[in-house]
Amino acid sequence: MKTRNQVLEVAALRQFDLVVIGGGIVGAGVAQNAASRGLSVLLLERADFASGTSSRTTKLIHGGLRYLEQLRFGMTRELCQERALLEQLAPHMVRDFSFILPLLKDDSFFAWKAGIGLTLYDMLASGVGGAHRHSQITPKELLEYVPAMSAKLVSGGLRFHDCITDDSRLVIEVIKSACSLGALAINYCEAIGFEKTDGKIAAVNCHDRYSGGDITIRCKACINATGVWADEVAQMVGGGWKKRITPAKGTHIVVQPSALETNSALFLPTKDNRYVFVVPWQRALMIGTTDTAYTGPLEHPLPTSAEIDYLISVVNTYAVKPIGRRDIVAAWAGLRPLISNEAAAPNGSPINTSQLSREYEIVAMLDGMIVVIGGKLTNYRLMADQVVEKALTQLPPEVTAAATQPRTHRIMLGGWSDKNDFLTLTASIASQARKLGIEPATLEHLTASYGTDAQAVIDLVEKEPGLNSRVCPDFPPIMAEVVFCVLNEMAVSLEDLLCRRMRLGVIHQRQCLEAGPKVAMLIQSLLGWDNSRTDLELQSLEGMLQEHIACYS
Ligand SMILES: Cc1cc2nc3c(=O)[nH]c(=O)nc-3n(C[C@H](O)[C@H](O)[C@H](O)COP(=O)(O)OP(=O)(O)OC[C@H]3O[C@@H](n4cnc5c(N)ncnc54)[C@H](O)[C@@H]3O)c2cc1C
Repeated sequence: MKTRNQVLEVAALRQFDLVVIGGGIVGAGVAQNAASRGLSVLLLERADFASGTSSRTTKLIHGGLRYLEQLRFGMTRELCQERALLEQLAPHMVRDFSFILPLLKDDSFFAWKAGIGLTLYDMLASGVGGAHRHSQITPKELLEYVPAMSAKLVSGGLRFHDCITDDSRLVIEVIKSACSLGALAINYCEAIGFEKTDGKIAAVNCHDRYSGGDITIRCKACINATGVWADEVAQMVGGGWKKRITPAKGTHIVVQPSALETNSALFLPTKDNRYVFVVPWQRALMIGTTDTAYTGPLEHPLPTSAEIDYLISVVNTYAVKPIGRRDIVAAWAGLRPLISNEAAAPNGSPINTSQLSREYEIVAMLDGMIVVIGGKLTNYRLMADQVVEKALTQLPPEVTAAATQPRTHRIMLGGWSDKNDFLTLTASIASQARKLGIEPATLEHLTASYGTDAQAVIDLVEKEPGLNSRVCPDFPPIMAEVVFCVLNEMAVSLEDLLCRRMRLGVIHQRQCLEAGPKVAMLIQSLLGWDNSRTDLELQSLEGMLQEHIACYS
């Protein structure tokens, strides 16, 4: 990846085939796909990469079992296919995981329905590779997998498979892949207006929120991949764009693993006919999510007390020892960019967002902007492919003619060239890490988070052994990652580092708060911040974390 200054220099001089607005998973995927076809691409993100919805998900690469209840078979099949492909393309980062759906003693109809649902889920995933069939487990087995489960309630369970990832790291991996194919990407650069020639967008006016300047970037077509902000950005173009998005808020809480003993992820049916996931992730237990209509400001949505109580109460329906607010170490909220649908609010009743489609739409505006709405983390690659196909219809014939077929179904993420390369390189990275005294947990974390770049992080430790110290006492990330991400992944703030390059800000918010000053001192030495800038960064991190901690204290 080039540095921000290098990107700004090139951006001011060139005309790009495509400018992609939005550095979440969808924008990242579009940039990668377009670059893989030989188009010249610039990706713009107004804040940090993945700072919108794409760092606030349940982190599942999944077929979406619950969508079967809405009879969305085509979508589930598509998601299962993408799950299998991503498991191959990102073997370090997209990992198979077993989930248990507990069956309650007094609900034999649900047990029957769930069995049929999972059989269908297996069928939809069959033939796409990597799929494990579900199995029934006895009450005894259930308690072995999940000692925290109340034995009085359950008559056994169903065990099935999906995949888990690290959402914001996945976005960074896709952006790095796009850049290795020739794309440019820049964060803290906001699209604020558009210039047109003959009624078509010819340039995007941008504000550089990091250094304060403005810049105009010339392009032949423009993609609006701004998630819940897509209406806002489309309205900037003019032409009477009507609002299409209903944001739906989802809150997660994180508890210490000791609060709820489980050796498997859980898929818990709720009394209001939903499901809540409990997922062991990054040495903590993530619990979520809620699903409610949201009308507040789109930046920084916060969990509410009621949402936190709801998640606690769902878990406590099943737990032998209740969890409580004292067990929570982090919480966050994200906004789903769902496509509006009148049917979800019959007779003027409040919108039931869990009934809104998770599918996506790609709309070509008359002014030449292509807007992408909806979708999931899991199917970003397919969405991106269709967006670029549509963009090709807007581009000059000579660009379209020169564009090649997409290759993203073959391009591995994480810098591996193929599965063998993944196996050999991880072995050689492990051997060097052992020699340097890097803990096994840290080694595993580095490979899972950075792919082949784990080697570069370890090289930093070799040069400066002090960088092998943990950032937070209970978690594997080390200080060398701060150096690596500032120098190679365009991390420019404390929050970029602690919340999205490393995930400490969403795993243990109090420990992250304590780590702030030492991480800030290291960034200060790398980026040349003066003391007042360092103080501002610390205040901003503290303000954000305290706001979240207050939600569950
Ligand atoms: C609680 C929750 C749980 C979820 N769990 C899962 C899951 O487990 N699995 C799954 O597959 N999907 C899941 N999803 C869905 C998935 O996360 C989203 O569909 C996906 O992340 C949306 O990505 P995006 O790129 O469209 O939006 P975003 O990630 O929000 O990216 C849009 C970006 O555009 C930027 N932007 C906005 N305006 C401008 C501008 N003017 N100039 C430049 N940039 C701009 C924003 O800053 C933002 O970073 C979940 C969603 C939520 C909310």
